Amino acid sequence: GSETLIDTFNEEIKKHELEHEVKIVKTGCFGLCEVGPIVIVYPEGAFYAHIKKENVATIVEEHLLKGRIVDNLLYEDAKDDDRVRSLDEVDFYKKQKRVALRNCGVIDPENIVEYIGYDGYKALGKVLTTMSREDVIDEIKKSGLRGRGGGGFPTGIKWGFAYKATGDEKYVVCNADEGDPGAFMDRSVLEGDPHSVLEAMAIAGYAIGARQGYIYVRAEYPIAVKRLEIAIEQARKYELLGDDIFGTGFSFDVEIRLGAGAFVCGEETALLNSIEGKRGMPRPRPPFPANEGLWGKPTLLNNVETYANIVPIILNGSDWFSSIGTEKSKGTKVFALGGKINNTGLVEIPMGTTLKEIIYEIGGGIPNEKAFKAVQTGGPSGGCIPAKNLDTPIDYDNLIALGSMMGSGGMIVMDEDNCMVDIARFFLDFTVDESCGKCPPCRIGTKRMLQILDKITSGKGELEDINRLEELAKNIKESALCGLGQTAPNPVLSTLRHFKNEYIAHVVDKT
Ligand code: SF4
Repeated sequence: GSETLIDTFNEEIKKHELEHEVKIVKTGCFGLCEVGPIVIVYPEGAFYAHIKKENVATIVEEHLLKGRIVDNLLYEDAKDDDRVRSLDEVDFYKKQKRVALRNCGVIDPENIVEYIGYDGYKALGKVLTTMSREDVIDEIKKSGLRGRGGGGFPTGIKWGFAYKATGDEKYVVCNADEGDPGAFMDRSVLEGDPHSVLEAMAIAGYAIGARQGYIYVRAEYPIAVKRLEIAIEQARKYELLGDDIFGTGFSFDVEIRLGAGAFVCGEETALLNSIEGKRGMPRPRPPFPANEGLWGKPTLLNNVETYANIVPIILNGSDWFSSIGTEKSKGTKVFALGGKINNTGLVEIPMGTTLKEIIYEIGGGIPNEKAFKAVQTGGPSGGCIPAKNLDTPIDYDNLIALGSMMGSGGMIVMDEDNCMVDIARFFLDFTVDESCGKCPPCRIGTKRMLQILDKITSGKGELEDINRLEELAKNIKESALCGLGQTAPNPVLSTLRHFKNEYIAHVVDKT
């Protein structure tokens, strides 16, 4: 409904001759999806939620003309039914730190001038005029940034590999094939701040010695694709992409490639095959893409959120970035918070924030006074974390130690009514569907796991089936070719670890 709201605001503003005093900025998502459409009026930061077309005249007449905040349209805090007068008072945002999402919900993503107004392309100017290629890579290494797409590999080291690799041509690729059920953080960055990704890719191109970048984005994200197209066109017009950027002799351009909906194409080598026009199937590694990537040339691959962190690191310095987070996980992480939670939406928290803080303070707790049961992180590659671990500070290593993983950042909350065996079955059903079929452990093994789960959930299982399921899961983890198969058993293994009693109940109930 946001487009209609904008038209109505424009009509009302014109009617009251406020065109020269009020500017409407159409932005990307501001994170708190639960209460949209949102209208924020500055300078007060008044946070109007669930706004309908019929509310617009009131906001214009009362707030914009008379300077009176319209209390009954303000966001209502779910916990204590209070109306929140300004953005700073919203619990959802108090514990967040917006680095990757810094411009989302703030600037007009279709207007490069607004991005430039928020220091956009200043980092590119800085690296091209004052930093050597080695300086840039050192800065990223020192920041401690790790890949936000799932694996958590140190970004600076990856850049260093691509820099050192020899080749007459090199490529920079952005993985925007976000396919995890429940994850939409990359989409939000592309829709709300596409230039931050383009600028970071150009910086990466300079650092490793590439002239060409590709963004591989899923076709199911039409708004993201459209805004990227606009951003690329504008950046070329402003000579921030193309030949001889800033007159420095450095040339770099970006093209978009659309993914056709295969989850496995989010795996980096399958993604490269797909860009090359081949069937999207993973390649064995080594060789790694940094040495032999696109068309056999050295290729640097990072995901959207990783790139969204690059500009702030260059502008504010690696010390600033590494001062946020935990010892081994620096900076912030964006999570898509969903499921049985009051405040669904996108949250960006410093690493080290506890699961409890996210669920109860930012997320506003569980609806209908139900009891929290588990939180699933990492989508189909991740696992379920039970209530006893809610005080765990979030970082890459802690989540792995709990049998889950950071993944791309999906976070699905479950309450007492959810059956954990059903949850495991849901994710496994997804990965079976998305298996590319190249290697037997994943193609056949995950299918067998699903059959055993079907048997258990339909009440026909036996205790021995639970053991068989676990053994099979461990074997697939060890032997599958790519990340999809290697992590597919995680939801089953983590629910077996923390909720085995529910599996046993299914088997015992039958008798
Ligand atoms: Fe394909 Fe699964 Fe093997 Fe990956 S693990 S190559 S998705 S069959």
